[in-house]
Order: sequence, then C-alpha cells, then structure tokens
Amino acid sequence: MKKINSEQEKERQRLTKEILYWKEKRGALIIAHNYQIPAIQDLADFVGDSLELSQRAAATDARIIVFCGVHFMAESASILSPKKTVLIPDLDAGCSLAASIDATELRKWKKRYPDAVVVSYVNTSAEVKAESDYCCTSTNAVKIVNSIPGNRQILFVPDMFLGDYVAKTTGRKNMIIYPGECHVHARVRPSDITDKMDQHPAAEFLIHPECGCVSSCMHYLASGDIPANKTRILSTGGMIKHARKSPSKEFVVATETGILYRLKKENPQKSFIALRDDMVCRFMKMITLPKLLNSLKNLEFEVKVPKEIADRARIPIERMLKLSK
Ligand code: SF4
Repeated sequence: MKKINSEQEKERQRLTKEILYWKEKRGALIIAHNYQIPAIQDLADFVGDSLELSQRAAATDARIIVFCGVHFMAESASILSPKKTVLIPDLDAGCSLAASIDATELRKWKKRYPDAVVVSYVNTSAEVKAESDYCCTSTNAVKIVNSIPGNRQILFVPDMFLGDYVAKTTGRKNMIIYPGECHVHARVRPSDITDKMDQHPAAEFLIHPECGCVSSCMHYLASGDIPANKTRILSTGGMIKHARKSPSKEFVVATETGILYRLKKENPQKSFIALRDDMVCRFMKMITLPKLLNSLKNLEFEVKVPKEIADRARIPIERMLKLSK
C-alpha cells in the first residue's frame, strides 16, 4: 500500500511540475471551483464560487483561462471575456441542474407568463441566459429579486429549492418557480439535519440554499425546532467567509463535499463534517491533473459561445454583476 501511495505521490509531483511549466509557457490563469478535487484546488491561481470565478475571469489580463469547473461556468467566462481563450479540461463536465431546462422549454414558460421578469440561476446554459432578464447566484439571488419592483411577476429558473428559499426570504408572493433541481443537493432530507444535530450538538450547520431540506429548514427555524443561532443558509462563498470569522469549533456542512478540503485547509484548528458523505458531484470530479495538463499543452477544449447568443446572454450576467458590487 505504501509503495502505491509513494508512486501516486511521485506521479502527482511530475504532473504538477509539467502543469506549472505549461501554465507559465501559455501565460494562462487557472481558476477552480470550490468543489474541485484537492489536487486541482492546490494548483489553481484562484479558488472560489461561480460568481467569484466569473468576476476573476473577467478581470484577468491573461489571454488564456483554464476553467476547472463545469461547462456552464466556462461559458459564462467566455461570454464575459469574448477575446480570451477559455478552456475546460473535460467537455463532459456538465451539470444536472443546468440540464434541467433548455431555451425551448424556457420560451414555452415565457409564453405562459408573458409579463414575468425572468431570473435565471447561473447554473444554466448560455442559450437559457440569452432568454433571461437577470442572472443570479446563490450569493446574490435575494438581492437580485429584491431589486425587481414588487408588482412585477418573476419567473425563477431552474432551481426550485433556491427559488423557494428566495421567495420565503423576500416574502414575494408573485414568483413562479421552475421545478428543476441539482441531483447532489436535492437528496438532502430534513432528517439528515436533525440526525446530525443529535450526533453533533455543539456544531454549527452551514446549509446551501440548493439543498432539498431548505424549505423544511426554514420552517423548522421559524418554529424554533432548529436553533437559529446554529443554522446558516449560505452560498459556498458565504460558507468560506463565515467559517473564518465564526467562534464555533465544529461545523456540519451541507453542500458538495469538495468544499471541505478548502474549509479545513483555511481553518486547521476547526473541524468540518459532511452532512452526507454521498454529496459528491461526479461532473466536478471529472477534472483531473492529466486532463488539466492536456488542456494547457494542447489548448483543449475551447469553450466558445456563438456571438449572437453571447451578446444576449451577457446582458443578464452584467446586470447581476452590477447589482453584486
Ligand atoms: S453540484 Fe449540482 S449544481 Fe453543482 S455542478 Fe454539480 S450538478 Fe451542477
């Protein structure tokens, strides 16, 4: 076993050396989502949530951006930086949530609610963004919805748990919520939370608003069944910030387990436990060191959005970025 581990470590070191060589040669920026595998997070110039990554991609002077995340994120980077080359190390790194709605389906919903303002979560394809009025992330969804006059109906796509959370938080009664979900977050049940609370009575709970338990959690919070001072509903970026400043020593984390690596790395004196060990996104784990090396070496695989779609999709993204400042 030891021999295998040392061989793996040698291979990892060799790949890291080659990746750094090609990164330098290409003048590339490597950015990685919080859910990426540790080896990729360690090599990235910047690790963050989808909003932070799209802002970083737009701000960089680097002509080549290697996006270690999933396809819709690389598309957003390409939309915001059409003159830059945006690469994704594996074109199959998709997203079940983004796949839950396409532009044809959204156009049907828009026909049904012709006066509604369309707010789409960034976990959507460029074509869906091009049909939207605003984009949002889990960090800014409440802010974006609050910026829309209260008398305007809102069509919120595609995540029903985030949509429900936003409707409850803003008190909006005129939100039409599309029934899409992420297969990783949707599997969380309220009993997962209450069971873990029994096992870890001193822990703080950090819950992503895409989780299947969010509406029940909000109900439990309002009724006092879950202590409000121990439960936070936060985006991944919010979790990172909260864990740094909270005096708590133990946290149960309800989102994709890849974030635990960064939380532990930045807060070695604190303990972080996954709410469910099976909250693993297979798409996020598709990016590996050999694929990252191939991407830099052979400039594969470029993500380019056709100009006509990119020009329309840029409008809701830029509206969101403006409101997020
Ligand atoms: S965790 Fe869910 S929302 Fe995030 S990339 Fe994976 S499938 Fe998509």
